[in-house]
Amino acid sequence: MLRGWPNSYFCPLCYRNLETAFHLVAECPFSKQVWTVVANWANCPSLSPHNWTGVLDLQYWFRDLTSASTQQRRGLLTLVLLVIWSLCKERNNRIFKHEELTVPRFTALLRDEVRTWIFAGAKHLETIVGSIFNE
Ligand SMILES: [Zn+2]
Repeated sequence: MLRGWPNSYFCPLCYRNLETAFHLVAECPFSKQVWTVVANWANCPSLSPHNWTGVLDLQYWFRDLTSASTQQRRGLLTLVLLVIWSLCKERNNRIFKHEELTVPRFTALLRDEVRTWIFAGAKHLETIVGSIFNE
C-alpha cells in the first residue's frame, strides 16, 4: 500500500486487483497497455511488458526498465518518470475527481506531454522518442 494515501483497496485503474505501488505502475492491465505504446514510441524492448517476466519488485523493475547505454539512459529515465507520473495523476483523477481516461486518450495526452517537455528542452527525451513527432 502507498502509506499516507487514501486507501482505495482496489486499484482505481482496473478495479480488479489490490492497489500496491508495483501493481499501479507495472502489473496493472491499464498500465501495461500504456507501456506497450510507450515501448513502440521509444523502440525500446525493455519498456515492453512482454519482457518483464519474473519481475516482482518495484526496485528491480525500475532498474531493468532503465538499463540502457549511457547515451540512451538519461532520455529513458525522463520518459519512465513521465509515464509513472502520468499514471499516478490518472489514479488521483479517478479517486478525487471521478474522471477517467481510456488508454487511447491517456496515451494521446501523454504524447502531448512528451512534446511539451521536448519543446521545454528535454533533449535526451527527444533523442529517444522525438521521431514520433516527425510521422
Ligand atoms: Zn490495476
